[in-house]
Amino acid sequence: MVGAGFAGVGCVRRLERRLGPNEADLTLVTPFSYQLYLPLLPQVASGVLTPQSIALSLRRSRKYRTRIIPGGAIGVDLKAKVCVIRTITDEIVNEPYDYIVLAPGSVTRTFDIPGLTDHAFGMKTLAEAAYIRDHVISQLDLADASQDPAERASRLQFVVVGGGYAGTETAACLQRLTHSAVRRYPRLDPRLIKWHLIDIAPKLMPELGDKLGRSAQEVLRRRGIEISLGVSIEKAGPEEVTFTDGRVVPTRTLIWTAGVVASPLIATLGAETVRGRLAVNAEMNLPGHDGVFALGDAAAVPDTAKGQEGAVCPPTAQHAMRQGRKVADNVIATLRGAPMEPYVHKDLGLVVDLGGKDAVSKPLGVELHGLPAQVVARGYHWSALRTNVAKTRVLTNWVLNAVAGDDFVRTGFQARKPAKLKDFEYTDSYLTPEQVREQVQRTSSGTP
Ligand SMILES: Cc1cc2nc3c(=O)[nH]c(=O)nc-3n(C[C@H](O)[C@H](O)[C@H](O)COP(=O)(O)OP(=O)(O)OC[C@H]3O[C@@H](n4cnc5c(N)ncnc54)[C@H](O)[C@@H]3O)c2cc1C
Repeated sequence: MVGAGFAGVGCVRRLERRLGPNEADLTLVTPFSYQLYLPLLPQVASGVLTPQSIALSLRRSRKYRTRIIPGGAIGVDLKAKVCVIRTITDEIVNEPYDYIVLAPGSVTRTFDIPGLTDHAFGMKTLAEAAYIRDHVISQLDLADASQDPAERASRLQFVVVGGGYAGTETAACLQRLTHSAVRRYPRLDPRLIKWHLIDIAPKLMPELGDKLGRSAQEVLRRRGIEISLGVSIEKAGPEEVTFTDGRVVPTRTLIWTAGVVASPLIATLGAETVRGRLAVNAEMNLPGHDGVFALGDAAAVPDTAKGQEGAVCPPTAQHAMRQGRKVADNVIATLRGAPMEPYVHKDLGLVVDLGGKDAVSKPLGVELHGLPAQVVARGYHWSALRTNVAKTRVLTNWVLNAVAGDDFVRTGFQARKPAKLKDFEYTDSYLTPEQVREQVQRTSSGTP
């Protein structure tokens, strides 16, 4: 099993429960010892939740018996049936397999925009969310201390690119953070704080439909977030960002959430892909390779519930966790010589938490906004958290934050050297398909 996200953990837990101890040895390759509940990441960045509350332990489970290899898979040789792993101590090891389930998720999609990977932050990992929180608070601290009006203005402007749910939630939650924090900085003029949310698309969160999308936009505009649609980034520098409409915004904070692409691991297989995601059938099996399965953000799983030729499931947690359970059933069926079943799930809709009492959601097609939407959004995420400990931590954090607010503490754990997009997702660790073959051959022939 590669990857311990929604898909990977959903699969592994089911295999642990349904397979007898003598039926299979289970191995999980994962760089971290937790499953990250990604949809609540903006709430970590804004300080509503502590980082630990959305990092769910992989070892807290009654039936836990999987061997965990701490590291990342950097290549798969489908012919030799070997997964090449870089451990967290940077050793390269080959792990042979009989069955492999690939669920390494996705990485932030970037474009060839000058300065982007050097100057933008992403919102995909726990480290990034914690880092961004410290960074945003440090901008308030530094602006407060500065005697230079130009520096102060640039430290108090923030740019988020990406009007999907991840970017919109990030902008909304972080704007609440600075809006509340500025009260503790009496020397700062709150009117200098400006959040920009931009997207090349003509609408925010088109999947919500026109009415709810507009409603989210109104909430954000009312809160002072400047929304620019049909606009992207021309170039990014350390102290300013140039928009494609010619505007130059002085800022030290560029958050890039403009979509995701499948993990670079998928390209190492040399197999067919659909826009970078591994092309699998409805049983999530790689055609021509019995025993190889892929799912979640990394795979193009046919969306059979849509009944449309060529439709694939969107990259959401909602699909990934359900696919995980179905893949487990299909692995077990293959092991026992039974027929596999296709994955079918009708989308339940979307919930978008804009912070405080603001939210929009569309559960089962019912459009909600304001407090009812917020109750549905938080209720959905809370019930989807896998362990009771995580549920308790998250609920306690929500209550504490609602009652006592935030102390806006900058922890200073982050390095002095700025860490940006390119530093968090390890996208340059992977091998090419040729390097994978060489690595596997070298080891099997005993060459060091
Ligand atoms: C800010 C944000 C908000 C979101 N909000 C929502 C929402 O409200 N609703 C919703 O349905 N979806 C939401 N999503 C999308 C959702 O989180 C993803 O679709 C979902 O996490 C995909 O599950 P996955 O298991 O495929 O990947 P992930 O959950 O990302 O898990 C992949 C795992 O694989 C590990 N990994 C990566 N590379 C390797 C490797 N080479 N070897 C081994 N392990 C590896 C990673 O560390 C990770 O643990 C949101 C995403 C973001 C970023």
